[in-house]
Amino acid sequence: METAETHHSAHGNESESIGIAIIGGGISGLCLALGLLNTAPHLHIHIYEAADHFAAIGAGVAFGINAQRALWKLDPRLGEAYSKLSTSNVDANTRSRKETYLRVVMGMDHATLPLLTAGTKVSEVFCEGGFSSVHRARLLDAMLDLLPDDFRNTHVTFGARLVSLHDVHHVDGRGRVKLTFADGRIACADAAIGCDGIRSQLRRILLEAEEAQPVFSGKYAYRGLIPMDRAVAALGDWSARNAHHRIGYGGHVLTFPIDKGKTMNVVAFRTKSDGVWPADAEWVTAATKEQMHADFAGWGQDVHAILDMMERSDMWALFDHAPAHTYHRSGQLCLIGDAAHASTPHHGSGAGMAVEDALLISSLLSDVQASSQLHCVFSTFEAMRKERTQRLVQQSRMQCMIYDFEAPEIGDDVEKIAQTLPHRWDWIWDHDVEAELQTARTLLADSTHKSPPSLVT
Ligand SMILES: Cc1cc2nc3c(=O)[nH]c(=O)nc-3n(C[C@H](O)[C@H](O)[C@H](O)COP(=O)(O)OP(=O)(O)OC[C@H]3O[C@@H](n4cnc5c(N)ncnc54)[C@H](O)[C@@H]3O)c2cc1C
Repeated sequence: METAETHHSAHGNESESIGIAIIGGGISGLCLALGLLNTAPHLHIHIYEAADHFAAIGAGVAFGINAQRALWKLDPRLGEAYSKLSTSNVDANTRSRKETYLRVVMGMDHATLPLLTAGTKVSEVFCEGGFSSVHRARLLDAMLDLLPDDFRNTHVTFGARLVSLHDVHHVDGRGRVKLTFADGRIACADAAIGCDGIRSQLRRILLEAEEAQPVFSGKYAYRGLIPMDRAVAALGDWSARNAHHRIGYGGHVLTFPIDKGKTMNVVAFRTKSDGVWPADAEWVTAATKEQMHADFAGWGQDVHAILDMMERSDMWALFDHAPAHTYHRSGQLCLIGDAAHASTPHHGSGAGMAVEDALLISSLLSDVQASSQLHCVFSTFEAMRKERTQRLVQQSRMQCMIYDFEAPEIGDDVEKIAQTLPHRWDWIWDHDVEAELQTARTLLADSTHKSPPSLVT
């Protein structure tokens, strides 16, 4: 396995050779690699991915407008790939207008208000460009394709599951990390960036066991796909082709189009009454139609029609992270994406935060010339990203409670739900990536006592 020592600087100059190991080749890992190849070609990067290859199956991942902007900024080819692969409810010519992001309707009859029957509209959320999503595995494939051939062949290792990280010191006193993988292979680098998702091994290495552990959110979800022609026949054209939340007591059902409108993606959420997911239980198990119908007993006919049409359904336990007190350690280890701040999916923004993380940290790394500067980069990254990313974790849980009539002071007050929902994404979508990069640049310059580096982004 290649180590940082075996690399040679692309510039052939005298600057220190700095090796960065990217642990995990999911959305954050591949975005980080693309960002670094564009902005920091002098760094020697290597991606270590546990899986042997990316699974060809998978479902839709929604990208809000903030996430799409970050993709374009990270690499315009990535923005183009997203535009090409994504499914939107909006015509390409009207993408700059505010269009329906999602519609919220009653999924069942209200317990006390007879007019609020299943199917009654509760609220509609609008967003620039409407709602768009992409097939996760296709996006990952497109990202891999954007990596130069020689990089992909020699700097991406599949089947490499990180198990441990140890600090080592060179004779010159320079700190390095020694990475050990499940099959016994070893690699060295100046720093490891953990992009290894919610069950991150690097998170476990950085944090105390309790803080590192994923936390069961009290919710689980049935996921499955429906051919769009069947969905249209059962629900009507507009209803099937635009994202919907069917909400009710202790659950909600999300549907949205994927696969260029050929398929409807379904995620049907329920509250687990005892709030417990046993430590030794699988997170994903197969689900039967009988189980789903029983779980949604008392819900409206559209919900049961949807459950009935779902193909190959799985049940997913939904976990997130308690706020980590730090995302990094001594210039040698830093977490981004779900490894740092996994959230439940109710705001549809976890992947978007991962892209924003990758954009910011790759920009900050672009001017690093010595491994001694990595600590300042990682602490600037944390200072810029911790509040926003941990807010998502907390707000995503609240979002689910609102849909499920469980939010404090809102409950099943549908009028309050209608008032609050349309603005709950504002802080996510209105994020100013340029301003964040500029502030981060100033902060980094202050912390390294030098004039602002020229960040190429
Ligand atoms: C049901 C569900 C629906 C969701 N829907 C949305 C949505 O619509 N929109 C949205 O923005 N977000 C959504 N999310 C969240 C989104 O999936 C994550 O935020 C996103 O995938 C995070 O990307 P990541 O690269 O940080 O982590 P991951 O996607 O988890 O990738 C981690 C990678 O690291 C690898 N890895 C793990 N351990 C190791 C190791 N020890 N060594 C080496 N490699 C390792 C894994 O194999 C994987 O490839 C959803 C999540 C769930 C559970």
